[in-house]
Parts: sequence; C-alpha cells; structure tokens
Amino acid sequence: EPPQRLSKVLAAAGVASRRGSEELIFNGKVTVNGSVCNAPQTRVDPNKDIIYVNGNRLPKKLPPKVYLALNKPKGYICSSGEKEFKSVLDLFADYLKSWDKINPGSPKPRLFTVGRLDVATTGLIIVTNDGDFAQKLSHPSSNLHKEYIATIDGKVSKRHLMAISEGTEIEGILCVPDSVELLPQQPDLLRPRLRIVVHEGRNHEVRELVKNAGLEIYSLKRVRIGGFRLPADLGLGKHVELKQSDLRAMG
Ligand code: URA
Repeated sequence: EPPQRLSKVLAAAGVASRRGSEELIFNGKVTVNGSVCNAPQTRVDPNKDIIYVNGNRLPKKLPPKVYLALNKPKGYICSSGEKEFKSVLDLFADYLKSWDKINPGSPKPRLFTVGRLDVATTGLIIVTNDGDFAQKLSHPSSNLHKEYIATIDGKVSKRHLMAISEGTEIEGILCVPDSVELLPQQPDLLRPRLRIVVHEGRNHEVRELVKNAGLEIYSLKRVRIGGFRLPADLGLGKHVELKQSDLRAMG
C-alpha cells in the first residue's frame, strides 16, 4: 500500500476523528519511528513505520468498516461529549462490548453518525466508522433524498401544503422540498401526517418548512435515505447492519 497521511492513518485506526487526529499530532502526542511528528501531512506506511499515540503503539490491524442503521429515539443527540444529553452512540454500548467476542483481535470501531437528526426527531440515522462514506453521503452533491413523516398539531389545508412546497429560506438559501403530501387520515390516529421529501439537508430544514407554513409539528420521523427505507419492524433504539445492496441504494 502507498504511504498515507499520518492524520488519515490515525483516523482509520479509530484513534480520533480526522480533525481530532490532527490536533493530537499538532500537540506532540504522536511519534513516528521514535521522534515526535508535528506534521499531519507526513506520509507514513502503517505496516512499516512505528507509530505511537499518547505512548500507545498504534495497532497494525485496522478495524473493519461497519455500517449500521439506527432507529433513533427521542431525547438523544447525534454528537457525543455533551453532558446535558444522551448520545445515540450510547445505544451502541452493548454492540461494542461484544465486539471482541465477535471480532477477536480486531480493534473496536470508532462510531459516528452520518449527518444529524434533531434531539426530538426519531427515525433513520446511519452510524459508521467510515469517514469517506460519511462525507460522501452528507455532501450536498450526493443529492440523496430524505423522507420524513411529520405529525401535525391542528388541521392541514391546501394552503398549508402550497406554502410548504414553495420552500423557505434557511441561512440565506431557499430550500424547496422535493415533495409534500398529506397522508390519508387513519382512523386510529388523531393528528394529520405529512410526507415530506427533501434533499438539501440543512439544519432543521423540515421543521422550518412546516413552521414557516404556519403549522405546528407534533413529532418528526425520518423514514428513508435514498433507496434505503427504515425497516418497519425496527424498534426505537435498535439497529441493523446494512448490506452491500443497502449501501448501494444510498449511492
Ligand atoms: N429536518 C429537521 O427539521 N429536523 C431533523 O432532525 C432533520 C431534518
């Protein structure tokens, strides 16, 4: 294998994020073949060079790439390290605990989410240790459609639907949904539900679209990313491993 950037090698080994790895390097926590290396762009060969981080030898074996689809419950945030909120990554504690048994000798993957869902939003979020995949998927040019079911407090009229479909400005950019549709009323559900498909993925986009049309969201759930739909039988807080075909469906 050709030599790679030191920061990328650390990130791939699950030491920290790409940014976090650069910081470790800048801060003198990383040695290559016995000397401190302060330059993240240094080319290294993880099979030949001897790399230490915080005094620990970097494992030669890389964790395999994992791709998981989580049904996010309410009350969890998608980043870690904030004290007020539980993180969706906490939901993988058992998964990581049994990692060694299922993958003997393999370092544990360092998991993160692909993009984010608001703390109150439920539904489909992808969790992985593959930074390139995460970046590709979250980039606007991926053009991935995301489908949400918004449950509304109050009545929904044609006028509301038109207002939503006209879009709303977020951070100075007009965001227009790909589609908005009132779902047929179900006898056991009191509140009307909207199916809204967007592809921009701006912060709070769906909530802003609905609010801007004069409606109040009761709950919001993401049910699809690209060609991958959240399995209907996947409980809140549960995850499934994505198959190659699922990954392809997400472009
Ligand atoms: N749009 C929102 O408003 N919230 C989310 O969590 C995702 C998309």
